[in-house]
Amino acid sequence: MLKNDQLDQWDRDNFFHPSTHLAQHARGESPNRIVTGGSGVHIEDRDGNRLLDAFAGLYCVNVGYGRSEIAEAIAAQAKELAYYHAYVGHGTEASITLAKMVVERAPDNMSKVYFGLGGSDANETNIKLVWYYNNILGRPGKKKIISRWRGYHGSGLMTGSLTGLELFHKKFDLPLAQVLHTEAPYYYRRADLTMSEEAFSAHCAAELEALIEREGADTIAAFIGEPLLGTGGIVPPPAGYWEAIQAVLDKHDILLIADEVVTGFGRLGTMFGSTHYGIRPDIITIAKGLTSAYAPLSGSIVSDKVWAVLEKGTDENGPIGHGWTYSAHPIGAAAGVANLKLIDSLNLVSNAGETGAYFNAAMKDAIGGHAHVGDVRGEGMMCAVEFIEGKDERRYFDSARKIGPAVSAALLERGVIGRAMPQGDILGFAPPLCLSRAEADEVVGKTADVVKAVLG
Ligand code: PMP
Repeated sequence: MLKNDQLDQWDRDNFFHPSTHLAQHARGESPNRIVTGGSGVHIEDRDGNRLLDAFAGLYCVNVGYGRSEIAEAIAAQAKELAYYHAYVGHGTEASITLAKMVVERAPDNMSKVYFGLGGSDANETNIKLVWYYNNILGRPGKKKIISRWRGYHGSGLMTGSLTGLELFHKKFDLPLAQVLHTEAPYYYRRADLTMSEEAFSAHCAAELEALIEREGADTIAAFIGEPLLGTGGIVPPPAGYWEAIQAVLDKHDILLIADEVVTGFGRLGTMFGSTHYGIRPDIITIAKGLTSAYAPLSGSIVSDKVWAVLEKGTDENGPIGHGWTYSAHPIGAAAGVANLKLIDSLNLVSNAGETGAYFNAAMKDAIGGHAHVGDVRGEGMMCAVEFIEGKDERRYFDSARKIGPAVSAALLERGVIGRAMPQGDILGFAPPLCLSRAEADEVVGKTADVVKAVLG
């Protein structure tokens, strides 16, 4: 085994890390962690730390670490057939079986699934499909896409544009011109504190409709949103939000893409977030929970309505000009099949609902009354704690004080991984769906200790 300082040097010298302060990392000024193993909700590193990962990697290791059923399925597939492509009608038993399992679990009006590699490329696919759809329907001007501020949809050119977080735009010349942003359904941070949740939802829908009317409905192709805002702050939608948004989209004949990269396959306590909130999407994005990140795989599930137009398009124009070398990669597909079976056999969707509700309630009980805890919110296995300087007058901390990162760093010192969300002083949790009540208690107890230690 390589010595730690050797590996550390190679890391600083050679490895271009994503979402990292590159200069500090290269100079060795910021901590790095070399992760060596994992089991259940815990990971281990080369320095001998064992940490409770209450963010499941990047909310993706849904079945927990170290599941031999998935590892064995991957090994068996790699030995039998590591790769063949899926172009011109090719497939493998794993990819075909997984497609059937995904469509069976998806809402009723869903027809087919296209497989990609990660959430970003799946959303790139979705936008191309929406453009193709409108071209086939003879509406070449209907192309703009609306997403929400604080939405997260990836970090490619189009998907980084759809993402409504400044960090992902700044210095990258994004967003692209075809992308428009509308108000985030963020009730806690509403401008008018006298508004009820329902009134705020109606306000968000009215803002959306005003944007559509300003631009012209015949220029807008689709609206994309996560059922529950994830990276933008773990924010469940206010009451009546999706119903109000859906009505506006239906009225203006605008497709709805539900980005279920985080919420798909059980995180909210239901198989899909769309069903959870009564959303009727035309396309659903899936990734993380599809394989629990044991192998990279994503998907775009398309509805009967969209599929009918795609078929018409190929009858008129020949094969669809869209595909990746690694679409439906057999190893990813084998991981997906084993993962979905495990989610069923371990009842992880109901555990996400039940233990998730317990976790959220316990967190609220433990710290909701603290003078600097403005909001504790969540759903299923997602929970966020938002810190605030002046609770009554809604005065936020100066972002330069980095309160969110300070709390998450202190929590890490106590052996628990939570995530300082990228915008605002928000500590996020999204544990593996197999979290037990005792593990939930540990996360809550240590969070309460840390809040007291950092904020008094
Ligand atoms: N959509 C959502 C809702 C996400 O949370 C993410 C990743 N956090 C993505 C898309 C992008 O996925 P990936 O990082 O796999 O490209």
